[in-house]
Amino acid sequence: GIHACANWHNGEVPTERSADLFQRARRVSPGGVNSPVRAFKAVGGTPRFMTSGEGAWLTDVDGNRYVDFVGSWGPMLLGHAHPQVIAAVQEAVARGTSFGTPAEPEVALAEEIVERTSVESVRLVTSGTEATMSAIRLARGVTGRDRVVKFAGCYHGHVDPLLAEAGSGVVTLGIPGTPGVPAHVTADTIVLPYNDVDAVQAAFAEFGGQIACIITEAAPGNMGLVPPAPGFNAALARIASEHGALFISDEVMTGFRAARAGHWELDGQREGWAPDLVTFGKVMGGGFPSAAFGGRRDLMEYLAPAGPVYQAGTLAGNPVATTAGVTTLRLATPELYTDLLATSLRVRELVGEALVGAGVPHVIQAAGTMFSVMWGVTDPVTDFAGAQRQDTAAFAAFFSSMLDQGVYLPPSAFETWFVSAAHDDAALTTLSEALPAAARAAA
Ligand code: PLP
Repeated sequence: GIHACANWHNGEVPTERSADLFQRARRVSPGGVNSPVRAFKAVGGTPRFMTSGEGAWLTDVDGNRYVDFVGSWGPMLLGHAHPQVIAAVQEAVARGTSFGTPAEPEVALAEEIVERTSVESVRLVTSGTEATMSAIRLARGVTGRDRVVKFAGCYHGHVDPLLAEAGSGVVTLGIPGTPGVPAHVTADTIVLPYNDVDAVQAAFAEFGGQIACIITEAAPGNMGLVPPAPGFNAALARIASEHGALFISDEVMTGFRAARAGHWELDGQREGWAPDLVTFGKVMGGGFPSAAFGGRRDLMEYLAPAGPVYQAGTLAGNPVATTAGVTTLRLATPELYTDLLATSLRVRELVGEALVGAGVPHVIQAAGTMFSVMWGVTDPVTDFAGAQRQDTAAFAAFFSSMLDQGVYLPPSAFETWFVSAAHDDAALTTLSEALPAAARAAA
């Protein structure tokens, strides 16, 4: 049966079926998962195997229901199983799942992306990783340069040269962030502290003529939410341009999420500048594997078959995935983002009140509708070093209490919370009822 949170008491949340599935999964898959953070390593406990989602809610194999603040790590802007998206997908899938030819839905999706963002031309791919990998190849191909500037704490998918960590010193060449990435592959990656314009100037002073691009998350959401300082993204665009390098804004997470035109709506569009290249993913896939990179037409024309830089994909622009994406984007009206921001603000307020009430030190940080809680800190966090000073034990205690009370949060203190257009009063009531006990657990 379905276990509403009101029936839950400490230790009585049934998890037998999830535990059984996790055991099966570990026999056939590394760590029992297909993406590491799903394994609950940072928070402990049994990962919950979900069977269905509806609006703001997820249901697991043991019949437990949760208000979902993960949203499949960002894509589910409209909530789960939105009737119009499901109907469009059912219609598309009945006509065939893949043709490997051009088809109308991919054109419609590209038009929708071009209409609302800064990009003039767009190439569809199947994951955010592919999008950033391809954008970097294009930047290197266009400029004839090899070096790439990235920021510590920004995640751009598991792209070899971007899985780099900073060495010591102000301007350091990247060292591999994981076994399996050869040192020579990250040797051209320069890893800098986020929000530090001086470090960017220093890097360009030393390597300017060799740098192909700067890549940054438009607003980093992978070290918790760390907003760019006012003018930071504009400075990156300007410095890159002054040195003949390209500025790549990674909007895989923020695109069609932080605001309707992505995070760019909150800075570049207002200030009158645009990135050279932009990557997208998550929301534009409507829950399917779909992503994109785009930018100025003259740059995108370097891509095959128009130009010499090779890039391709068997399932790129897949008709079912692009139908889900374009249906999602068409439903994502300006009014929807107004409501989403109001919901996001309300959630932040509820969480903040509960944490203050329990005396838990924290800072809530946001960019548009996206936000996260920085645990155990009292000043705003501006870079990765700051984010790493979080009290992860406090978060783990909070997370477990929330989970037991029917609230599904991102299972790491370094992730962003996502609300959806389906987070209604019932969802927020479940949240607010769960908060006091969870805040006490974190204290
Ligand atoms: N870029 C950013 C900013 C992301 O947040 C992510 C994934 O979370 C990626 C790229 C990689 O996307 P994917 O997981 O689809 O490969």
